[in-house]
Amino acid sequence: MDYRFHAGSIPLLVSMPHVGTDVPDDIAAGMTPAATEKADTDWHLVKLYDFLGALGASTLSARWSRYVIDLNRPPENTNLYPGQDTTGLCPVDTFHREPLYLEGRQPSQAEVERRLAAYWQPYHTQLRAELDRLLALHGKVVLWDAHSIASVVPRFFEGKLPDLNFGTADGASCDKSMTDAIAGVARAGERFTVAVNGRFKGGHITRFYGKPEQGVHAIQLEMCQSTYMDETAPFGYREDRAAEVQPLLRQLVQAAADWVRK
Ligand SMILES: [Zn+2]
Repeated sequence: MDYRFHAGSIPLLVSMPHVGTDVPDDIAAGMTPAATEKADTDWHLVKLYDFLGALGASTLSARWSRYVIDLNRPPENTNLYPGQDTTGLCPVDTFHREPLYLEGRQPSQAEVERRLAAYWQPYHTQLRAELDRLLALHGKVVLWDAHSIASVVPRFFEGKLPDLNFGTADGASCDKSMTDAIAGVARAGERFTVAVNGRFKGGHITRFYGKPEQGVHAIQLEMCQSTYMDETAPFGYREDRAAEVQPLLRQLVQAAADWVRK
């Protein structure tokens, strides 16, 4: 299977496109030692969001590493942040600019097309099908795209990122009242810093599927990994930190679930 999927009972789907760590053998054979560390994974999100089953949410998470193909990039590979540095559909280097491929082994356009069909499309086909199923049942659905990133990545942003970064394509991907409800809960916590449509405004999944006029309300949460894990290899989960952020995270998802059913 190219992903892990669970169908829930409420109109809320949580997608985790960057949690995958598997790389097919034929692709791994052309990669550098730096690639094997998979440092740019959205680590441990399945564990951090382990309350989703109890909430009744549907879940979709990636099996394949973003180094194979990035599920949160558009298939035509346009830059989501024009004028700013970004990694592409099939990244050729890490966030810290280490090459992912051995000399001469970078994927050709034909190979990118092959990976789109083999590894990108199945996730998106399942995502679309689940949104359609929930829409048919409920008429309205929340798509929550879950991410995490190292708190300091000079290539992408200056200094330290706020702890919780919500992205709604500058308001285009969901109803404003939903963003307000979720951000209100986040800010009431006071322990963590919050941004809405700051450096991260939502990637391809948020922007493409978020169609509030059609009943799909999409929001991305990009969390600082410093809130729940060690940010250096071997990237261990930190129970002491998670114990602080996880209750708030649960309240945030609950706020989205309450909003959509109101
Ligand atoms: Zn991510």
